[in-house]
Amino acid sequence: MADDATLAPASHTLPGLTGVPVSPGRGAGTVVRMPDPVPEPDPAPLAADSTDADVDLAVTQVLAAVTTVQEDLTARAARAEGTAAEVLGVTAAMAADPALARDAVGRVREQRATPARAVWDAAGVVVGQLESLGGLMAERARDVRDVRDRIVATLLGLPAPGVPDPGFAFVLVADDLAPADTAQLDPERVLAVVTRGGGPTSHTAILARALGIPAVVAVEDALTLHDGEMVLVDGGLGTVERDPSAEDVAAVVAARGARGERRRFDGEGRTADGRRVELLANVANGEDARAAAEAGAEGVGLFRTEVCFLGRTVEPTIDEQVAAYREVLAAFGGRKVVVRTLDAGADKPLPFVTPEAEPNPALGVRGLRTARRHPEVLDRQLTAIARAAAAESADVWVMAPMIATPDEAESFVALCADHGLGTAGVMIEVPAAALGARWVLAKASFASIGTNDLTQYTMAADREVSDLARLSTAWQPTVLALVGATGSGAALNGRPLGVCGEAAADPVLAPVLVGLGVTSLSMTPRALADVAAVLAATTSEQCEELAFLALQQPTPDAARAAVRSRLPILAELGL
Ligand code: PEP
Ligand code: MG
Repeated sequence: MADDATLAPASHTLPGLTGVPVSPGRGAGTVVRMPDPVPEPDPAPLAADSTDADVDLAVTQVLAAVTTVQEDLTARAARAEGTAAEVLGVTAAMAADPALARDAVGRVREQRATPARAVWDAAGVVVGQLESLGGLMAERARDVRDVRDRIVATLLGLPAPGVPDPGFAFVLVADDLAPADTAQLDPERVLAVVTRGGGPTSHTAILARALGIPAVVAVEDALTLHDGEMVLVDGGLGTVERDPSAEDVAAVVAARGARGERRRFDGEGRTADGRRVELLANVANGEDARAAAEAGAEGVGLFRTEVCFLGRTVEPTIDEQVAAYREVLAAFGGRKVVVRTLDAGADKPLPFVTPEAEPNPALGVRGLRTARRHPEVLDRQLTAIARAAAAESADVWVMAPMIATPDEAESFVALCADHGLGTAGVMIEVPAAALGARWVLAKASFASIGTNDLTQYTMAADREVSDLARLSTAWQPTVLALVGATGSGAALNGRPLGVCGEAAADPVLAPVLVGLGVTSLSMTPRALADVAAVLAATTSEQCEELAFLALQQPTPDAARAAVRSRLPILAELGL
Protein backbone atom coordinates (compact mmCIF):
# COMPACT_ATOMS: atom_id res chain seq x y z
CA MET A 1 0.00 0.00 0.00
CA ALA A 2 2.93 2.39 0.58
CA ASP A 3 4.41 2.53 -2.91
CA ASP A 4 5.61 6.01 -3.88
CA ALA A 5 3.04 6.59 -6.61
CA THR A 6 0.22 6.31 -4.10
CA LEU A 7 1.83 8.47 -1.44
CA ALA A 8 0.87 11.70 -3.20
CA PRO A 9 -1.73 13.66 -1.25
CA ALA A 10 -5.23 13.03 -2.51
CA SER A 11 -7.18 15.94 -3.91
CA HIS A 12 -9.44 17.43 -1.28
CA THR A 13 -11.00 20.35 -3.10
CA LEU A 14 -14.73 19.92 -3.36
CA PRO A 15 -17.36 22.40 -4.51
CA GLY A 16 -19.11 24.29 -1.73
CA LEU A 17 -17.92 25.57 1.62
CA THR A 18 -15.26 24.25 3.95
CA GLY A 19 -14.66 24.48 7.66
CA VAL A 20 -13.28 22.48 10.54
CA PRO A 21 -14.69 18.94 10.79
CA VAL A 22 -15.63 18.23 14.41
CA SER A 23 -18.15 15.41 14.39
CA PRO A 24 -17.88 12.69 11.73
CA GLY A 25 -20.64 11.35 9.53
CA ARG A 26 -22.56 12.75 6.57
CA GLY A 27 -25.94 14.43 6.54
CA ALA A 28 -27.91 15.65 3.54
CA GLY A 29 -31.04 17.77 3.67
CA THR A 30 -32.69 21.16 3.55
CA VAL A 31 -31.05 24.09 5.30
CA VAL A 32 -32.94 25.70 8.16
CA ARG A 33 -31.26 28.73 9.68
CA MET A 34 -31.32 29.56 13.36
CA PRO A 35 -33.62 32.54 14.00
CA ASP A 36 -32.04 35.98 14.03
CA PRO A 37 -30.59 37.04 17.34
CA VAL A 38 -32.90 38.89 19.68
CA PRO A 39 -32.35 42.65 19.12
CA GLU A 40 -31.15 44.94 21.89
CA PRO A 41 -34.29 46.61 23.33
CA ASP A 42 -34.79 50.35 22.95
CA PRO A 43 -33.14 52.14 25.90
CA ALA A 44 -36.00 54.71 26.12
CA PRO A 45 -37.73 54.45 29.54
CA LEU A 46 -41.46 53.97 30.17
CA ALA A 47 -43.60 56.88 28.98
CA ALA A 48 -43.15 60.03 31.07
CA ASP A 49 -46.81 59.97 32.11
CA SER A 50 -46.79 56.32 33.21
CA THR A 51 -48.51 55.76 36.52
CA ASP A 52 -47.57 53.59 39.49
CA ALA A 53 -50.02 51.04 38.11
CA ASP A 54 -48.09 50.99 34.81
CA VAL A 55 -44.87 50.37 36.75
CA ASP A 56 -46.53 47.56 38.74
CA LEU A 57 -47.71 46.02 35.47
CA ALA A 58 -44.17 46.23 34.02
CA VAL A 59 -42.81 44.51 37.13
CA THR A 60 -45.41 41.75 36.80
CA GLN A 61 -44.43 41.29 33.15
CA VAL A 62 -40.75 40.90 34.07
CA LEU A 63 -41.51 38.30 36.73
CA ALA A 64 -43.94 36.40 34.49
CA ALA A 65 -41.43 36.26 31.62
CA VAL A 66 -38.65 35.05 33.93
CA THR A 67 -40.94 32.31 35.28
CA THR A 68 -42.07 31.25 31.79
CA VAL A 69 -38.47 30.88 30.57
CA GLN A 70 -37.33 29.12 33.71
CA GLU A 71 -40.23 26.64 33.54
CA ASP A 72 -39.67 26.03 29.85
CA LEU A 73 -35.94 25.29 30.37
CA THR A 74 -36.64 23.09 33.39
CA ALA A 75 -39.25 21.09 31.46
CA ARG A 76 -36.83 20.63 28.57
CA ALA A 77 -34.04 19.57 30.97
CA ALA A 78 -36.40 16.93 32.39
CA ARG A 79 -37.12 15.58 28.90
CA ALA A 80 -33.44 15.54 27.87
CA GLU A 81 -30.79 13.02 28.91
CA GLY A 82 -27.12 13.02 29.96
CA THR A 83 -25.04 16.04 28.91
CA ALA A 84 -28.05 17.73 27.31
CA ALA A 85 -30.02 17.56 30.56
CA GLU A 86 -27.02 18.90 32.47
CA VAL A 87 -26.51 21.90 30.16
CA LEU A 88 -30.23 22.75 30.14
CA GLY A 89 -30.32 22.36 33.92
CA VAL A 90 -27.47 24.88 34.31
CA THR A 91 -29.21 27.36 32.00
CA ALA A 92 -32.52 26.89 33.87
CA ALA A 93 -30.71 27.54 37.15
CA MET A 94 -29.35 30.79 35.71
CA ALA A 95 -32.84 31.85 34.68
CA ALA A 96 -34.00 31.08 38.22
CA ASP A 97 -31.27 33.23 39.79
CA PRO A 98 -33.28 35.63 42.01
CA ALA A 99 -30.53 38.27 41.72
CA LEU A 100 -31.25 38.72 38.01
CA ALA A 101 -35.00 39.21 38.51
CA ARG A 102 -34.40 41.46 41.55
CA ASP A 103 -32.01 43.70 39.62
CA ALA A 104 -34.41 43.91 36.65
CA VAL A 105 -37.36 44.79 38.91
CA GLY A 106 -35.20 47.45 40.62
CA ARG A 107 -34.45 49.02 37.24
CA VAL A 108 -38.15 49.15 36.36
CA ARG A 109 -39.07 50.75 39.68
CA GLU A 110 -36.13 53.13 40.10
CA GLN A 111 -35.19 54.02 36.53
CA ARG A 112 -38.58 53.39 34.90
CA ALA A 113 -36.85 51.07 32.44
CA THR A 114 -39.10 49.07 30.12
CA PRO A 115 -39.36 45.37 31.11
CA ALA A 116 -37.19 44.22 28.17
CA ARG A 117 -34.56 46.88 28.74
CA ALA A 118 -34.46 46.18 32.47
CA VAL A 119 -33.77 42.47 31.87
CA TRP A 120 -31.19 43.29 29.19
CA ASP A 121 -29.24 45.62 31.46
CA ALA A 122 -29.53 43.41 34.56
CA ALA A 123 -28.11 40.47 32.58
CA GLY A 124 -25.35 42.77 31.26
CA VAL A 125 -24.08 43.26 34.81
CA VAL A 126 -23.85 39.48 35.39
CA VAL A 127 -22.14 38.99 32.01
CA GLY A 128 -19.56 41.67 32.89
CA GLN A 129 -18.84 40.02 36.26
CA LEU A 130 -18.39 36.56 34.73
CA GLU A 131 -16.19 37.85 31.92
CA SER A 132 -13.92 39.67 34.34
CA LEU A 133 -13.35 36.35 36.19
CA GLY A 134 -12.02 34.81 32.96
CA GLY A 135 -11.54 31.11 32.13
CA LEU A 136 -14.42 28.74 32.53
CA MET A 137 -16.50 31.38 34.36
CA ALA A 138 -16.30 33.63 31.29
CA GLU A 139 -17.79 30.80 29.23
CA ARG A 140 -20.85 30.96 31.48
CA ALA A 141 -21.44 34.49 30.18
CA ARG A 142 -22.85 32.92 27.04
CA ASP A 143 -25.39 30.98 29.12
CA VAL A 144 -26.49 34.23 30.78
CA ARG A 145 -26.88 35.94 27.39
CA ASP A 146 -28.94 32.95 26.28
CA VAL A 147 -31.26 33.30 29.28
CA ARG A 148 -31.48 37.08 28.69
CA ASP A 149 -32.48 36.58 25.04
CA ARG A 150 -35.17 34.07 25.94
CA ILE A 151 -36.70 36.43 28.52
CA VAL A 152 -36.50 39.46 26.22
CA ALA A 153 -38.04 37.50 23.31
CA THR A 154 -40.92 36.49 25.60
CA LEU A 155 -41.43 40.13 26.62
CA LEU A 156 -41.29 41.47 23.05
CA GLY A 157 -43.43 38.70 21.56
CA LEU A 158 -40.62 37.55 19.26
CA PRO A 159 -40.03 33.92 18.21
CA ALA A 160 -38.10 32.13 20.93
CA PRO A 161 -34.44 32.01 20.12
CA GLY A 162 -33.17 28.49 19.76
CA VAL A 163 -33.37 25.51 17.47
CA PRO A 164 -36.34 25.82 15.07
CA ASP A 165 -38.88 23.04 14.61
CA PRO A 166 -39.95 23.08 10.94
CA GLY A 167 -41.68 19.69 11.20
CA PHE A 168 -39.14 17.78 9.07
CA ALA A 169 -35.52 16.64 9.42
CA PHE A 170 -33.10 19.40 8.41
CA VAL A 171 -29.52 20.70 8.32
CA LEU A 172 -29.12 23.39 10.95
CA VAL A 173 -27.04 26.43 9.94
CA ALA A 174 -26.13 28.98 12.60
CA ASP A 175 -23.73 31.78 13.33
CA ASP A 176 -22.87 29.94 16.55
CA LEU A 177 -24.83 27.79 18.97
CA ALA A 178 -25.34 28.45 22.67
CA PRO A 179 -24.79 25.39 24.87
CA ALA A 180 -28.52 25.27 25.63
CA ASP A 181 -29.26 25.20 21.88
CA THR A 182 -26.75 22.46 21.13
CA ALA A 183 -28.04 20.45 24.06
CA GLN A 184 -31.53 20.34 22.58
CA LEU A 185 -30.47 19.10 19.17
CA ASP A 186 -32.43 15.98 18.37
CA PRO A 187 -30.34 13.57 16.27
CA GLU A 188 -33.55 12.30 14.67
CA ARG A 189 -34.43 15.77 13.37
CA VAL A 190 -31.08 17.51 12.95
CA LEU A 191 -29.22 15.79 10.12
CA ALA A 192 -26.09 17.92 10.44
CA VAL A 193 -24.86 21.17 11.95
CA VAL A 194 -22.91 23.94 10.21
CA THR A 195 -21.70 26.99 12.14
CA ARG A 196 -19.66 30.07 11.33
CA GLY A 197 -18.09 30.16 14.82
CA GLY A 198 -16.86 27.43 17.14
CA GLY A 199 -13.76 25.28 17.37
CA PRO A 200 -12.91 21.60 17.80
CA THR A 201 -13.12 21.79 21.60
CA SER A 202 -16.08 24.18 21.71
CA HIS A 203 -19.36 23.20 23.35
CA THR A 204 -20.94 22.76 19.91
CA ALA A 205 -18.26 20.29 18.86
CA ILE A 206 -18.23 18.24 22.06
CA LEU A 207 -22.03 17.99 22.27
CA ALA A 208 -22.48 17.27 18.54
CA ARG A 209 -20.01 14.40 18.88
CA ALA A 210 -21.75 13.14 22.01
CA LEU A 211 -25.07 13.19 20.11
CA GLY A 212 -23.59 11.61 16.96
CA ILE A 213 -24.66 14.54 14.74
CA PRO A 214 -22.26 15.32 11.86
CA ALA A 215 -20.89 18.84 12.34
CA VAL A 216 -18.60 21.32 10.63
CA VAL A 217 -17.65 24.52 12.49
CA ALA A 218 -15.67 27.66 11.63
CA VAL A 219 -17.24 27.74 8.15
CA GLU A 220 -16.48 31.34 7.16
CA ASP A 221 -19.30 31.65 4.62
CA ALA A 222 -21.86 29.64 6.58
CA LEU A 223 -24.31 32.51 6.59
CA THR A 224 -24.48 32.57 2.78
CA LEU A 225 -26.49 29.32 3.07
CA HIS A 226 -30.21 30.13 2.96
CA ASP A 227 -33.40 28.49 4.19
CA GLY A 228 -34.67 25.76 1.86
CA GLU A 229 -31.33 25.18 0.10
CA MET A 230 -30.23 21.52 -0.27
CA VAL A 231 -26.76 20.66 1.11
CA LEU A 232 -24.63 17.62 1.85
CA VAL A 233 -22.51 18.07 4.98
CA ASP A 234 -19.49 15.88 5.62
CA GLY A 235 -18.50 16.12 9.28
CA GLY A 236 -15.42 13.98 8.68
CA LEU A 237 -14.05 16.06 5.81
CA GLY A 238 -15.27 19.49 6.90
CA THR A 239 -17.16 20.21 3.70
CA VAL A 240 -20.63 21.56 2.87
CA GLU A 241 -21.62 20.73 -0.70
CA ARG A 242 -24.35 22.91 -2.22
CA ASP A 243 -27.00 21.37 -4.44
CA PRO A 244 -25.66 17.79 -4.25
CA SER A 245 -26.72 15.17 -6.81
CA ALA A 246 -29.76 13.00 -6.09
CA GLU A 247 -27.51 9.89 -6.06
CA ASP A 248 -25.20 11.37 -3.43
CA VAL A 249 -28.16 12.33 -1.26
CA ALA A 250 -29.64 8.83 -1.63
CA ALA A 251 -26.29 7.29 -0.62
CA VAL A 252 -26.16 9.44 2.52
CA VAL A 253 -29.73 8.58 3.46
CA ALA A 254 -29.02 4.84 3.01
CA ALA A 255 -25.81 5.06 5.07
CA ARG A 256 -27.69 6.94 7.80
CA GLY A 257 -30.09 4.00 8.13
CA ALA A 258 -27.13 1.60 8.44
CA ARG A 259 -25.48 3.82 11.06
CA GLY A 260 -28.62 3.72 13.19
CA GLU A 261 -28.34 -0.06 13.42
CA ARG A 262 -24.66 0.02 14.33
CA ARG A 263 -24.82 2.32 17.34
CA ARG A 264 -23.59 -0.07 19.98
CA PHE A 265 -20.01 -1.19 20.52
CA ASP A 266 -20.04 -4.50 22.24
CA GLY A 267 -16.70 -6.13 22.65
CA GLU A 268 -13.03 -5.52 22.35
CA GLY A 269 -11.21 -3.13 20.04
CA ARG A 270 -8.95 -4.92 17.54
CA THR A 271 -7.34 -4.25 14.21
CA ALA A 272 -8.21 -6.54 11.29
CA ASP A 273 -5.19 -8.73 12.10
CA GLY A 274 -6.12 -8.99 15.77
CA ARG A 275 -3.88 -6.38 17.42
CA ARG A 276 -5.60 -5.23 20.59
CA VAL A 277 -6.51 -1.56 20.88
CA GLU A 278 -8.47 -0.95 24.06
CA LEU A 279 -11.47 1.28 23.42
CA LEU A 280 -12.26 3.27 26.55
CA ALA A 281 -14.47 6.15 27.62
CA ASN A 282 -13.90 9.68 28.91
CA VAL A 283 -16.09 10.43 31.92
CA ALA A 284 -16.53 13.13 34.53
CA ASN A 285 -18.88 11.51 37.05
CA GLY A 286 -20.82 8.40 37.99
CA GLU A 287 -23.65 9.10 35.57
CA ASP A 288 -21.23 9.37 32.65
CA ALA A 289 -19.50 6.19 33.78
CA ARG A 290 -22.72 4.20 33.90
CA ALA A 291 -23.66 5.46 30.43
CA ALA A 292 -20.20 4.51 29.16
CA ALA A 293 -20.49 0.99 30.60
CA GLU A 294 -23.91 0.72 28.98
CA ALA A 295 -22.38 1.76 25.63
CA GLY A 296 -19.90 -1.13 25.91
CA ALA A 297 -16.71 0.79 26.77
CA GLU A 298 -13.92 -1.56 27.87
CA GLY A 299 -13.04 0.76 30.74
CA VAL A 300 -12.36 4.42 31.46
CA GLY A 301 -9.33 6.02 29.82
CA LEU A 302 -9.85 9.46 31.36
CA PHE A 303 -11.79 10.31 34.50
CA ARG A 304 -11.63 14.12 34.69
CA THR A 305 -11.77 14.48 38.48
CA GLU A 306 -11.58 18.28 38.41
CA VAL A 307 -15.10 18.34 37.01
CA CYS A 308 -16.27 17.05 40.44
CA PHE A 309 -14.58 20.15 41.93
CA LEU A 310 -15.75 22.83 39.47
CA GLY A 311 -17.84 25.62 40.94
CA ARG A 312 -16.45 24.89 44.43
CA THR A 313 -14.74 27.65 46.35
CA VAL A 314 -13.33 25.21 48.88
CA GLU A 315 -11.78 21.81 48.36
CA PRO A 316 -14.23 18.91 48.75
CA THR A 317 -13.51 16.75 51.80
CA ILE A 318 -11.78 13.41 51.43
CA ASP A 319 -15.09 11.66 52.18
CA GLU A 320 -16.87 13.62 49.44
CA GLN A 321 -14.12 12.74 47.01
CA VAL A 322 -14.20 9.06 47.93
CA ALA A 323 -17.96 8.99 47.29
CA ALA A 324 -17.59 10.68 43.88
CA TYR A 325 -14.74 8.41 42.78
CA ARG A 326 -16.44 5.24 43.98
CA GLU A 327 -19.44 5.97 41.78
CA VAL A 328 -17.20 5.91 38.71
CA LEU A 329 -15.20 2.85 39.82
CA ALA A 330 -18.39 0.95 40.64
CA ALA A 331 -19.57 1.21 37.02
CA PHE A 332 -16.45 -0.64 35.84
CA GLY A 333 -15.94 -3.44 38.38
CA GLY A 334 -12.90 -5.58 37.46
CA ARG A 335 -12.01 -3.24 34.59
CA LYS A 336 -9.49 -0.49 34.06
CA VAL A 337 -10.28 3.06 35.19
CA VAL A 338 -7.68 5.78 34.63
CA VAL A 339 -8.20 8.49 37.23
CA ARG A 340 -6.61 11.82 36.38
CA THR A 341 -5.62 13.99 39.32
CA LEU A 342 -6.85 17.55 39.49
CA ASP A 343 -6.30 19.45 36.22
CA ALA A 344 -7.05 22.92 37.55
CA GLY A 345 -6.02 26.15 35.88
CA ALA A 346 -6.41 27.91 32.52
CA ASP A 347 -9.99 27.23 31.37
CA LYS A 348 -10.75 25.34 34.61
CA PRO A 349 -9.69 27.66 37.45
CA LEU A 350 -10.37 26.40 40.98
CA PRO A 351 -10.08 29.13 43.60
CA PHE A 352 -8.46 26.86 46.20
CA VAL A 353 -5.44 25.97 44.05
CA THR A 354 -5.08 28.28 41.05
CA PRO A 355 -3.31 31.61 41.43
CA GLU A 356 -5.33 34.72 40.69
CA ALA A 357 -4.70 36.86 37.61
CA GLU A 358 -1.86 34.99 35.97
CA PRO A 359 -0.69 36.82 32.86
CA ASN A 360 -0.99 33.67 30.73
CA PRO A 361 -2.92 30.94 32.55
CA ALA A 362 -2.54 28.25 29.86
CA LEU A 363 1.22 28.51 30.35
CA GLY A 364 0.95 29.09 34.06
CA VAL A 365 0.35 27.09 37.19
CA ARG A 366 -2.10 24.46 35.98
CA GLY A 367 -2.42 20.69 36.20
CA LEU A 368 0.19 19.00 38.36
CA ARG A 369 1.99 22.34 38.75
CA THR A 370 -0.67 23.46 41.26
CA ALA A 371 0.69 20.79 43.62
CA ARG A 372 3.93 22.75 44.09
CA ARG A 373 2.16 25.40 46.13
CA HIS A 374 -0.60 23.12 47.44
CA PRO A 375 0.95 19.68 47.94
CA GLU A 376 -1.64 18.90 50.61
CA VAL A 377 -4.49 19.06 48.04
CA LEU A 378 -2.83 16.41 45.85
CA ASP A 379 -1.99 14.37 48.91
CA ARG A 380 -5.61 14.36 50.06
CA GLN A 381 -6.79 13.54 46.55
CA LEU A 382 -4.47 10.52 46.32
CA THR A 383 -5.68 9.41 49.76
CA ALA A 384 -9.26 9.59 48.49
CA ILE A 385 -8.43 7.72 45.26
CA ALA A 386 -6.63 4.98 47.23
CA ARG A 387 -9.60 4.62 49.59
CA ALA A 388 -12.06 4.46 46.72
CA ALA A 389 -9.85 1.90 44.94
CA ALA A 390 -9.68 -0.26 48.07
CA ALA A 391 -13.48 -0.22 48.37
CA GLU A 392 -14.19 -1.15 44.73
CA SER A 393 -12.96 -3.86 42.39
CA ALA A 394 -11.95 -1.68 39.40
CA ASP A 395 -8.33 -1.79 38.25
CA VAL A 396 -7.33 1.76 39.20
CA TRP A 397 -4.61 3.59 37.27
CA VAL A 398 -3.69 7.15 38.26
CA MET A 399 -2.23 9.83 36.02
CA ALA A 400 -1.08 13.42 36.32
CA PRO A 401 -1.94 16.20 33.85
CA MET A 402 0.54 18.70 32.35
CA ILE A 403 3.78 16.81 32.97
CA ALA A 404 6.71 18.47 31.22
CA THR A 405 9.83 16.66 32.52
CA PRO A 406 11.01 13.20 33.65
CA ASP A 407 11.60 14.61 37.15
CA GLU A 408 7.96 15.60 37.47
CA ALA A 409 6.94 12.12 36.34
CA GLU A 410 9.29 10.50 38.84
CA SER A 411 8.09 12.48 41.83
CA PHE A 412 4.41 11.95 40.95
CA VAL A 413 4.91 8.19 40.60
CA ALA A 414 6.77 8.09 43.94
CA LEU A 415 3.95 9.99 45.63
CA CYS A 416 1.38 7.58 44.21
CA ALA A 417 3.47 4.64 45.46
CA ASP A 418 3.44 6.21 48.96
CA HIS A 419 -0.35 5.99 48.79
CA GLY A 420 -0.28 2.39 47.61
CA LEU A 421 -1.26 3.34 44.06
CA GLY A 422 1.08 1.16 42.01
CA THR A 423 0.04 1.98 38.45
CA ALA A 424 0.92 5.64 38.03
CA GLY A 425 1.37 7.42 34.74
CA VAL A 426 1.38 10.77 33.05
CA MET A 427 -0.47 12.75 30.45
CA ILE A 428 1.56 13.84 27.48
CA GLU A 429 0.17 17.23 26.50
CA VAL A 430 3.28 19.42 26.53
CA PRO A 431 5.55 19.15 23.45
CA ALA A 432 8.60 18.84 25.75
CA ALA A 433 7.12 15.69 27.30
CA ALA A 434 6.34 14.24 23.86
CA LEU A 435 9.87 14.88 22.59
CA GLY A 436 11.31 13.58 25.87
CA ALA A 437 8.92 10.60 26.09
CA ARG A 438 11.77 8.08 26.20
CA TRP A 439 12.92 9.60 29.51
CA VAL A 440 9.49 10.46 30.87
CA LEU A 441 8.21 6.94 30.24
CA ALA A 442 11.26 5.40 31.87
CA LYS A 443 9.79 6.87 35.08
CA ALA A 444 6.08 6.18 34.59
CA SER A 445 4.01 3.00 34.18
CA PHE A 446 2.03 4.38 31.22
CA ALA A 447 1.11 7.57 29.38
CA SER A 448 -1.97 9.03 27.77
CA ILE A 449 -1.71 11.75 25.16
CA GLY A 450 -3.99 14.74 25.68
CA THR A 451 -4.22 15.82 22.07
CA ASN A 452 -6.39 18.86 22.92
CA ASP A 453 -3.61 20.50 24.89
CA LEU A 454 -0.79 18.97 22.87
CA THR A 455 -2.29 20.67 19.80
CA GLN A 456 -2.80 23.96 21.67
CA TYR A 457 0.82 24.05 22.81
CA THR A 458 2.32 22.82 19.54
CA MET A 459 0.44 25.35 17.43
CA ALA A 460 0.54 28.14 20.07
CA ALA A 461 -3.21 28.44 19.46
CA ASP A 462 -5.56 28.87 22.42
CA ARG A 463 -8.04 25.98 22.22
CA GLU A 464 -10.87 28.27 23.37
CA VAL A 465 -10.49 30.78 20.53
CA SER A 466 -12.69 29.95 17.55
CA ASP A 467 -10.72 32.22 15.20
CA LEU A 468 -7.85 29.77 15.57
CA ALA A 469 -9.96 26.66 14.93
CA ARG A 470 -8.21 25.87 11.68
CA LEU A 471 -4.89 25.62 13.52
CA SER A 472 -6.39 23.64 16.40
CA THR A 473 -6.57 20.15 14.98
CA ALA A 474 -4.63 17.03 15.87
CA TRP A 475 -4.43 16.34 12.13
CA GLN A 476 -1.61 18.89 12.01
CA PRO A 477 1.26 16.73 10.77
CA THR A 478 3.52 18.38 13.37
CA VAL A 479 1.18 17.26 16.15
CA LEU A 480 1.13 13.76 14.67
CA ALA A 481 4.93 13.82 14.65
CA LEU A 482 4.84 14.46 18.41
CA VAL A 483 2.39 11.57 18.85
CA GLY A 484 4.91 9.46 16.90
CA ALA A 485 7.78 10.61 19.13
CA THR A 486 5.72 9.62 22.18
CA GLY A 487 4.93 6.25 20.56
CA SER A 488 8.65 5.60 20.10
CA GLY A 489 9.39 6.56 23.70
CA ALA A 490 6.61 4.27 24.96
CA ALA A 491 7.77 1.34 22.81
CA LEU A 492 11.37 1.78 23.95
CA ASN A 493 10.23 1.39 27.55
CA GLY A 494 7.54 -1.21 26.83
CA ARG A 495 4.80 1.03 28.22
CA PRO A 496 1.11 1.23 27.25
CA LEU A 497 0.21 4.49 25.49
CA GLY A 498 -3.30 5.91 25.23
CA VAL A 499 -4.87 8.93 23.58
CA CYS A 500 -7.65 10.61 25.53
CA GLY A 501 -8.02 13.94 23.73
CA GLU A 502 -10.83 14.55 21.25
CA ALA A 503 -8.64 13.08 18.48
CA ALA A 504 -9.34 9.58 19.84
CA ALA A 505 -13.00 9.95 18.81
CA ASP A 506 -12.14 10.62 15.15
CA PRO A 507 -12.63 7.30 13.31
CA VAL A 508 -10.38 8.43 10.46
CA LEU A 509 -7.55 9.41 12.76
CA ALA A 510 -7.82 6.27 14.93
CA PRO A 511 -5.82 3.97 12.60
CA VAL A 512 -3.17 6.68 12.22
CA LEU A 513 -2.80 6.94 16.00
CA VAL A 514 -2.50 3.16 16.26
CA GLY A 515 0.13 3.25 13.51
CA LEU A 516 2.05 5.80 15.56
CA GLY A 517 2.24 3.40 18.51
CA VAL A 518 -0.92 4.11 20.49
CA THR A 519 -2.35 1.07 22.32
CA SER A 520 -5.66 2.45 23.64
CA LEU A 521 -8.14 5.16 22.66
CA SER A 522 -10.46 6.92 25.10
CA MET A 523 -13.43 8.89 23.82
CA THR A 524 -17.05 9.93 24.17
CA PRO A 525 -19.01 6.63 24.24
CA ARG A 526 -20.98 7.63 21.14
CA ALA A 527 -17.80 7.36 19.04
CA LEU A 528 -16.90 3.81 20.15
CA ALA A 529 -18.82 1.93 17.46
CA ASP A 530 -17.42 3.94 14.55
CA VAL A 531 -13.83 3.81 15.79
CA ALA A 532 -14.14 0.06 16.45
CA ALA A 533 -15.56 -0.58 12.97
CA VAL A 534 -12.75 1.32 11.20
CA LEU A 535 -10.03 -0.43 13.22
CA ALA A 536 -11.60 -3.84 12.61
CA ALA A 537 -11.29 -3.22 8.87
CA THR A 538 -7.64 -2.07 8.98
CA THR A 539 -4.55 -4.20 9.61
CA SER A 540 -1.67 -3.10 11.86
CA GLU A 541 0.51 -2.80 8.80
CA GLN A 542 -2.02 -0.55 7.09
CA CYS A 543 -2.22 1.55 10.27
CA GLU A 544 1.55 2.05 10.09
CA GLU A 545 1.38 2.94 6.40
CA LEU A 546 -1.43 5.43 7.05
CA ALA A 547 0.62 7.01 9.84
CA PHE A 548 3.59 7.31 7.51
CA LEU A 549 1.37 8.80 4.81
CA ALA A 550 -0.15 11.38 7.18
CA LEU A 551 3.30 12.44 8.39
CA GLN A 552 4.39 13.13 4.80
CA GLN A 553 1.66 15.73 4.23
CA PRO A 554 2.27 19.45 4.69
CA THR A 555 -1.19 20.37 5.99
CA PRO A 556 -3.97 18.86 8.14
CA ASP A 557 -6.42 18.87 5.22
CA ALA A 558 -3.97 17.04 3.00
CA ALA A 559 -3.22 14.51 5.77
CA ARG A 560 -6.90 13.83 6.39
CA ALA A 561 -7.70 13.56 2.68
CA ALA A 562 -4.76 11.25 2.01
CA VAL A 563 -5.78 8.91 4.84
CA ARG A 564 -9.45 8.98 3.88
CA SER A 565 -8.62 8.03 0.31
CA ARG A 566 -7.05 4.79 1.64
CA LEU A 567 -9.96 3.80 3.89
CA PRO A 568 -12.84 2.57 1.71
CA ILE A 569 -14.53 1.32 4.89
CA LEU A 570 -15.44 4.95 5.68
CA ALA A 571 -17.83 5.14 2.72
CA GLU A 572 -19.39 1.81 3.70
CA LEU A 573 -19.96 3.12 7.20
CA GLY A 574 -21.29 6.45 5.93
CA LEU A 575 -18.47 8.36 7.63
C1 PEP B 1 -6.41 16.96 26.48
O1 PEP B 1 -5.79 17.99 26.73
O2 PEP B 1 -6.44 16.41 25.34
C2 PEP B 1 -7.18 16.29 27.54
C3 PEP B 1 -7.71 15.10 27.37
O3 PEP B 1 -7.36 16.98 28.69
P1 PEP B 1 -8.41 18.20 28.85
O4 PEP B 1 -9.22 18.29 27.59
O5 PEP B 1 -9.23 17.86 30.05
O6 PEP B 1 -7.49 19.36 29.05
MG1 MG C 1 -5.50 18.60 28.77
